[in-house]
Amino acid sequence: MNNAIFKVPQPVNEPVLSYAPGSPERAAIKAELERQSKAAPLKIPTVIGGKASFDGQKGYCRMPHDHAHVLAEYAIAGKEQLVAAVEAAEAAKPAWAALPWTQRAAIFLKAADLLAGPWRHRMNAATMLGQSKTMFQAEIDSACELADFLRFNVYFAQEIYKNQPESSPAMWNRLEHRPLSGFVLAVSPFNFTAIGGNLPTAPAIMGNTVVWKPASTAVFSNYMFYQILEEAGLPAGVINFVPSRGTDVSETALMDRRMAGFHFTGSTDVFSDVWRKVGENIKLYENYPRLVGETGGKDFVFAHNSANVDHLVVALVRGAYEYQGQKCSAASRAYIPESLWPSVKEKMLAEIAKIKVGDVRDFRNFMGAVIDDKAFKSITSYIDYAKSSPDAEVLCGSYDDSKGYFVQPTLILAAKPDFKTMVEEIFGPVLTVYVYKDSEMEAALESCRTASPYALTGAVFAKERPDIEYLEAALCDAAGNFYINDKPTGAVVGQQPFGGGRASGTNDKAGSILNMLRWCSPRTIKETFVSPAAVEYPFMAQE
Ligand code: NAD
Repeated sequence: MNNAIFKVPQPVNEPVLSYAPGSPERAAIKAELERQSKAAPLKIPTVIGGKASFDGQKGYCRMPHDHAHVLAEYAIAGKEQLVAAVEAAEAAKPAWAALPWTQRAAIFLKAADLLAGPWRHRMNAATMLGQSKTMFQAEIDSACELADFLRFNVYFAQEIYKNQPESSPAMWNRLEHRPLSGFVLAVSPFNFTAIGGNLPTAPAIMGNTVVWKPASTAVFSNYMFYQILEEAGLPAGVINFVPSRGTDVSETALMDRRMAGFHFTGSTDVFSDVWRKVGENIKLYENYPRLVGETGGKDFVFAHNSANVDHLVVALVRGAYEYQGQKCSAASRAYIPESLWPSVKEKMLAEIAKIKVGDVRDFRNFMGAVIDDKAFKSITSYIDYAKSSPDAEVLCGSYDDSKGYFVQPTLILAAKPDFKTMVEEIFGPVLTVYVYKDSEMEAALESCRTASPYALTGAVFAKERPDIEYLEAALCDAAGNFYINDKPTGAVVGQQPFGGGRASGTNDKAGSILNMLRWCSPRTIKETFVSPAAVEYPFMAQE
């Protein structure tokens, strides 16, 4: 199974193309956007055991920035199909686990090259149109990050297999990194095509078979990635593609005795609910299921009064508003010293005034629409709450969902550090600022550390090294990904392994060897070459 041939070189990150005017990639993506926009709605099936089916209820993929436009109609797997997907994963398991790991690896390395090459523009256009990402946001997600996940995870698998114990004379020890006993259930979010691709493939690289439930609002791009896996030669049943209702998944695949691992990214509430269900039914399972979840965030930027205001403002604007604030790592609360606030405020408002929000096919736009009607209602309810509260002032921000789900970049000034929008995840383009007195930095830091239940990402801005060191130590448990003089978004696979603690998840660091270790169950094998021939030990002999 692990037949050791160690030849995968250390990967390098997929280069980000510029799409600057006149570049060949710009012409190619424009043509592909036009083609996908004009095409008749795609029919997306479920794929179970290699068989595509368009039976059952249907869902629709729409452009968030033009919600009347239907991109695809997809089949929704019901409970019966979810049970069939589990059986298909179980049936495919023995042959997949027995395949030499290099043969498995080749499939994912090929998928990465197909994605970065001939499929790049198709995938980026699907992510732009279906999830309302700008050109740059799609490129760093559905092309670069996803190719990186595939290549780096294969490399990490190799590092795991290489790791062998010591042996003594006349015997030999081996560690066999077997896949988990059972199947893995992968449930992915809408906001990164790369995460959609990573959640099922990371366990599959380690020899597991998978039931993959993508988010309903990302089915368009996620199915395209599934087609890449098929073209790369993924055997039937290894990953079963089942868009479905979350509650149906929780009542079927999650409750199957063979469920050996749950690979999740999404909201804290859903993951907590899954954890509770698994705990309540723990006697059901053949093994203790591995629950790996990267969940919500309330990511901070903390400015010291020595911070460079220009750098701080760029980090706040990019960190809070790129991809409409719908990154789990998006800056959504900032602590600014009173001495800097007048200039930060002036520069922030000037930058925000320049931001264009609209259809992502117009490359002048910095922001597209939020993902759907539900998100629009939830985000705008926070803005309305702040507008009506005596404890906050909305400095800018408006919204309109008549054509697309557009929310303008919103800046809220909170009078207290535990104001609702300073502590709850909003998952939209809303940044709340709390201005602290320079002489009361300690109290502001303590609030930054403890006021919100999350601990995903955070950034500090300061100049002097002792101040940086102080902030780094004071906030050591407030973020799993910590940035110094940079925005808290934009983690790169292989460079900044991603994940956080507290209510932000199990901190198993997607895009690192730590995550890949969760998908194997090692067997230690000791072989003695010269077996003892007597029961008695030498010390027992007669003197
Ligand atoms: P979500 O929790 O609404 O959905 C995630 C997935 O769970 C979807 O596929 C959804 O259909 C499914 N689901 C919903 N109810 C379910 C249930 N009862 N049982 C099983 N599955 C169920 O999240 P989302 O809106 O897609 O994504 C946004 C959230 O994801 C935010 O909270 C964000 O912070 C988080 N996120 C975290 C990270 C990270 O690395 N920490 C990365 C991306 C997104």
